[in-house]
Parts: sequence; C-alpha cells; structure tokens
Amino acid sequence: MNINDKTAKKILETDIYPDGANSPTEHIEYVCPCGKGKIIYENVRGFNDRYAFFKCKTCEKKYDFRYGCGCFWELEEK
Ligand SMILES: [Zn+2]
Repeated sequence: MNINDKTAKKILETDIYPDGANSPTEHIEYVCPCGKGKIIYENVRGFNDRYAFFKCKTCEKKYDFRYGCGCFWELEEK
C-alpha cells in the first residue's frame, strides 16, 4: 500500500505565519512510517509552494517524497 497524506495518521493541522509573511502557511504533521518521528507538510497559501520533509533520521534515509500524485505527498522507497 502506498504511504501518502491520506493513509498516514495526522497529528496536527494548523496555520503558521512565518516572519514577515502576510499569508498563512498551512502546516500539517503526520506520524512517519516507523512511528518514531514525524512528516511535516507545508503549503504556502496563494503561492502553490508546497513541500514535505521528515523529522526522522530513520525514514529520511529510506524514503523520498513524490508530489503531483493526486495527493499532497507520497513516499517512494529509495
Ligand atoms: Zn520514522
């Protein structure tokens, strides 16, 4: 089964305002595949500038993020 934003467990969903920014950034955190860390997804609203990254040493070595798959992000084994 693919691991993507629809199958991962969501921990937190909020808007943040980076320093000096007028528009909010959508900030969503998910449990990472190994369960010890997190996946952070951020979407700068109005700029279509979206990216995801790991806060997990184990998973960042094992997976790459893929975008444009009909979901916010999807994991691909390296
Ligand atoms: Zn992990």
